[in-house]
Amino acid sequence: MSLAVSADSLRTLHRLHRQLADLRDQLSAGPRQLVARTKQLQAAEATQAAVQDEIKKAKMVVDQKQLQLRSAESKILDLEGKLNACKTNREYQTLRDQVAADKMATTVLEDEILEALERLDSVKNKLAPIDVEIATAKRLLAETQAKVDGESAKLETEVARIKADLDAAEGELPVDSREVYRRIVKSKGAEAMAAVEGESCGGCFQQLTGNMLAELSMGRVVPCRNCGCLLYLSK
Ligand SMILES: [Zn+2]
Repeated sequence: MSLAVSADSLRTLHRLHRQLADLRDQLSAGPRQLVARTKQLQAAEATQAAVQDEIKKAKMVVDQKQLQLRSAESKILDLEGKLNACKTNREYQTLRDQVAADKMATTVLEDEILEALERLDSVKNKLAPIDVEIATAKRLLAETQAKVDGESAKLETEVARIKADLDAAEGELPVDSREVYRRIVKSKGAEAMAAVEGESCGGCFQQLTGNMLAELSMGRVVPCRNCGCLLYLSK
């Protein structure tokens, strides 16, 4: 059973539908690129926050140890001040031993402070490359945004143009075929039509019957019995 539609007009309709589908694909690519760029920026900013947190902790370690050192040093000064007040040799010796032990402890603390400062420096060094990464991600996001804005305006115009062409072409369909055409297009979109390839349906590659091929060769449109596509003979 053939439709009262010419292969020529179906060929045109199929081309317009494919153009529209392609334009809509391109239109949806822009927002996807923006999402990807935004995620890149967010990831870099999260890394920056983590490093800033690391720096804060490393600073706290330095501050704590410096505080310990100051209190140890003032304790030593205090003990040294008491040396002259010692009444016995034994008392004096004990106090001197105590001062020597405390001085040893401050040396260890001083080494620990140096290590903590080095650690702080190495953590701080991680910031510069992350700042560069964030600046790059921001620039790429802005560039993509500008590109998408510019392109989508052009694509929208193109969609409107093709849509108008499609409406006009559909308006020329014979009334008794319009319903079948609309139903199939509604469910399959641009895939609702297929050119015959060799002796098979271009949509599902099912072999066509001699009868169908005969009708097609007369320039008629025949639905594929397997996938329901509207078939037409390619030029
Ligand atoms: Zn088919």
